[in-house]
Amino acid sequence: MTGSGLVRAHVLIVEDEPAQRALLAYNLSAEGFRTSEAADGEAALEAIAGDPPDLVLLDWMLPRLSGIETCRRLRARAATRDLPVILLSARGEDEDKVRGLEAGADDYMVKPWSMGELVARIRAQLRRSRAAATGAALGHGDILLDPETHRVTRAGVQLRLGPTEVRLLATLMERPGRVWSREALLDRVWGRGIHVDSRTVDVHMGRLRKALMAGGGDNPVRTVRGAGYALG
Ligand code: CA
Repeated sequence: MTGSGLVRAHVLIVEDEPAQRALLAYNLSAEGFRTSEAADGEAALEAIAGDPPDLVLLDWMLPRLSGIETCRRLRARAATRDLPVILLSARGEDEDKVRGLEAGADDYMVKPWSMGELVARIRAQLRRSRAAATGAALGHGDILLDPETHRVTRAGVQLRLGPTEVRLLATLMERPGRVWSREALLDRVWGRGIHVDSRTVDVHMGRLRKALMAGGGDNPVRTVRGAGYALG
C-alpha cells in the first residue's frame, strides 16, 4: 500500500486457532483496518498471491508450513520481499526472537500481547513501508496523485475529482495492471459492511474516467469484462 490514509490498510491474519483469529479480526476491524484471514502457512501464501495485503500478522506455530518458513518464503520472492511481517509467538526466549528476525520478520510479539501495543506496532510498520515504497506522489504515466493534498494532475493540469474518485484512483494506482473486482473496490474504497450497490462502483468509475480524460488524454482505466477494472 502506498500513501496516505486514502484507503484502509489491509492486514492478513495468519493464525490456526479460530478464536484467536476472530479476536484479532474483530479488534483490527474496529481500529479501521481491512482484514483477511488464513489458517495455515500454505493458505497464507495463496491468500497473499491472490489479494496482496499491506501487512501480515504471522503466528509462529502453524500447521502445514510454520510461520518462520512462511516468512522465509515471502522474503525469497521479489513480490513479497518488502511486505511487512509481524511474527506472533508464544515463545518468548531471546533465541526465538533472533530466529524470527533472522527469518525476515520485521517485528516480533510474544503472546499474550496487548491489543493496543499490537496496533501501535502495526501502524509503525505500515508507516515505515509506505515511506520506503513511495516518495511524495503516486504516479502512472502522466497522472500524478499527491497523497497528502489529494491533488490529482494529468500532464501537469489539475483535475477536478470528488473524494470517492480520488480513493478509487489511489487504489488503482497502488498496483497498476491488477484487475480489481467491483466487490474488492467496494471493500477497499467504501469499506466492508457498507451496503452499496456494485453499480455504484460503475457510476464513480465513469466519473473518474471522465475527469481523467477531461484534458483530452486517452482512457487509462481498462474494463475487464466479467472481472472488473484495472489501470493500464
Ligand atoms: Ca498457532
